[in-house]
Amino acid sequence: MAYDFDLFVIGAGSGGVRAARFASSFGARVAVAESRYLGGTCVNVGCVPKKLLVYGANYAEDIDQAKGYGWSVDGVTFDWATLIASKNSEIERLNGIYKNLLVESGVTLFQEHAQILDAHRIEVAGKSYTSEHILIATGGWPHVPEFPGNEHVITSNEAFYLPSLPKRTLVVGGGYIAVEFASILNGCGSETRLLYRGELFMRGFDGSLRDHLKNEMIKKGIDLQFNTDIARVDKQADGTLKATLKDGRVMEADCILYATGRRPMLDNLGLENVEIERDKRGYLVVDNLFQTTTPSILAIGDVIGRIQLTPVALAEGMAVARHLFKPEEYRPVDYKLIPTAVFSLPNLATVGLTEEEAREKGVRLRIYESRFRPMKLTLTDTQERSLMKLVVDAETDKVLGCHMAGPEAGEIMQGFAVALKAGATKRIFDETVGIHPSAAEEFVTMR
Ligand code: FAD
Ligand code: NDP
Repeated sequence: MAYDFDLFVIGAGSGGVRAARFASSFGARVAVAESRYLGGTCVNVGCVPKKLLVYGANYAEDIDQAKGYGWSVDGVTFDWATLIASKNSEIERLNGIYKNLLVESGVTLFQEHAQILDAHRIEVAGKSYTSEHILIATGGWPHVPEFPGNEHVITSNEAFYLPSLPKRTLVVGGGYIAVEFASILNGCGSETRLLYRGELFMRGFDGSLRDHLKNEMIKKGIDLQFNTDIARVDKQADGTLKATLKDGRVMEADCILYATGRRPMLDNLGLENVEIERDKRGYLVVDNLFQTTTPSILAIGDVIGRIQLTPVALAEGMAVARHLFKPEEYRPVDYKLIPTAVFSLPNLATVGLTEEEAREKGVRLRIYESRFRPMKLTLTDTQERSLMKLVVDAETDKVLGCHMAGPEAGEIMQGFAVALKAGATKRIFDETVGIHPSAAEEFVTMR
């Protein structure tokens, strides 16, 4: 049968764009449908604007610290609306770049919502098209739990477009988005409180990093409230929000930001028209070639709920394009040793096993930890410290995990991810000559 397309991609986010562009470059006839914004979550309401806002917030510290270096910084002011407007124009520029990337690579682009009609048919803007393969790359969406008054809270989607900086913000959640936004808002000058339901936030990260982040965020003036949760939110006559906690306490805020995880985006996708298995959390189930239970329909990225990071979606998109259209270059996605950074202030970054995970596996360990005041801060009043940690297998000498909290942790960790991927031992770390003076050299001088 002759199909209109070889591959029809639903969603022009990180994974969808990567798959579409490469499939097209391998000679496939490709279409992409995007209902909201080109570039998806990462470009519009994720990684990119988030990092720009973190840079913005970080200037508060930089400016304050500049005093120790002789700069006079009296009369410095900050305008949130300017930051948001500048960020918005950069995002618009990126939207244009994504459009060009797709069009110039020969992809047929529909800036419309797409719905699956059957295993090979998609409907876009009232017209139906056929495709040999359909790729679902529709990403995720913030999830706000049910409670009275939840219509008064916002999520990261809206936080990126707040017209003014709230005077007081309550951030709820204890994952990536909660700590990143608490850092942004606090850095920009909002009185910030973070509420997390558990003992200590950033579950899944190394215990030393979690403790360290807690202490540093407190030093920066964020009010951390653990073992607590909101029962209801009421909007008062003057517009302020009153949060009643499950323990009975009442907190007032001008903005309540929920960062309590994300769910797969499957709205109006037409899944009822095909057989596609979903897991308990609602994510699409795929095999190791990203095929769903309807083999002509594949899925990648956040919608499959594996590791929800842009570079992972990119790798999955690439694997699909190669497997379908350039099989001689196909390599499976390797989910081992995926590094990640959290752009809180201070940044966290990590690759490999946490101490807790390694102990659970029953590995005999040698742990190396270094805590120090970053050199840049020595001429300032800032008491912030950095942390570096290595988790080493005592028998094989292999470095199993590398963890850091401190400025530029993400930049530093990328290279160490290569080292761990290559199977580096602690001896190789020791034999590597440091770069002096740097923070990164600490990783090769820990004894
Ligand atoms: P998405 O990028 O979400 O793209 C899906 C696209 O599909 C969307 O554009 C959507 O509009 C479209 N779509 C959905 N349904 C339809 C339909 N029926 N028809 C047409 N189009 C449709 N990751 C990092 O690696 N580093 C970070 O620093 C980072 N920061 C983040 C910060 C925030 C606040 C958030 C929310 C996420 C962050 N992430 C980060 C995660 C990263 O953004 C995601 O993992 C990544 O965008 C997933 O890519 P994707 O292709 O699966 O989906
Ligand atoms: P996360 O899954 O990281 O964290 C969700 C947090 O919300 C957890 O602390 C969780 O608690 C808590 N939570 C979940 N449900 C509830 C509830 N009903 N009531 C109260 N608290 C709740 O999700 P995020 O939304 O922060 O981020 C989504 C994903 O996006 C991340 O996992 C990451 O993959 C990606 N991302 C990556 C970034 C980066 O690379 N820098 C930045 C931002 C996002 P508990 O721990 O107890 O389950």
